[in-house]
Amino acid sequence: MKDTLQKFMVENAPVRGELVELTDTWRHVLARRAYPKAVQTLLGEMMSAAALLSANLKFNGMIIMQIHGDGPVKLLVVECDSDLRLRATAKIGEDAVISDDAALTQLVNANGQGRFVITLDPQDKLPGQQAYQGIVPLDGDNVASVIENYMLRSEQLDTRLWLAADDKVSRGVLLQKLPNVGGKDIANISPEEELDTWNRLAMLGNTLRTEEMLSTDIDTLMHRLFWEETIRVFEPQQPQFHCSCSREKVGNMLKMLGEEEIAEALSAQDKLAIDCDFCGQHYEFDAVDCAQLFTADSPADVVPQTDTRH
Ligand SMILES: [Zn+2]
Repeated sequence: MKDTLQKFMVENAPVRGELVELTDTWRHVLARRAYPKAVQTLLGEMMSAAALLSANLKFNGMIIMQIHGDGPVKLLVVECDSDLRLRATAKIGEDAVISDDAALTQLVNANGQGRFVITLDPQDKLPGQQAYQGIVPLDGDNVASVIENYMLRSEQLDTRLWLAADDKVSRGVLLQKLPNVGGKDIANISPEEELDTWNRLAMLGNTLRTEEMLSTDIDTLMHRLFWEETIRVFEPQQPQFHCSCSREKVGNMLKMLGEEEIAEALSAQDKLAIDCDFCGQHYEFDAVDCAQLFTADSPADVVPQTDTRH
């Protein structure tokens, strides 16, 4: 079965939801590297979270989740674009010993210096427009609660997330309480009824156990959770693995290191070999390739994060 993201609305209540299931996409990520079990769980849960949040974005673009860890895990990166194309990677400290049940804090915030950054990067930026970056406090036991807090603070949206991942699948469920439009009740029910419905649905979600999420496809999960509710489902979407790396981007990265540094690296070896952290694609740049990077008419003259169009 294909990877699936299923959006739905609860009829007669301003509540929307999504379920996501990643198997192929997740397999592509795991095929690159063997991660310790706890890291695998964390990265897998971030993958589902990114897909769920991305399907919710009001713009065409990319969502990038990065955790810069200060514990045994140094970096976790998950990217998802508006077509639900995902890639992910994690870097673990050398000699790190990670127990199977290590919690989020132990993995990335052991000394309180861990940083979780969510970047929303619009695809077709207007002149002067930049990516939006939010720093997410790592104040929860797991990714789900950290993101719930972030959504409430940054978007003022009551959001509940349930995430689970193992070495075969990553699944997630999202529920979100929609804000009333202009103070007018969109579902034509009283605020008390609205809150009751929200609380009831959130409690249904809380009955989900990790084992159950790992072993049950999302259609069955949806039925088990909401069989008493009137649900309107939308056309399912298909998340998939995709890496956006290219020779040109790797060239740009080398260029940013500067001519001197490249020359020094080339004095020790006859070519520079770079493997993509996300997909494993191998790139080689010999002396001629590198010299081309620094010629005046090189097209790859891009300074990141700065928009020069006026
Ligand atoms: Zn790649």
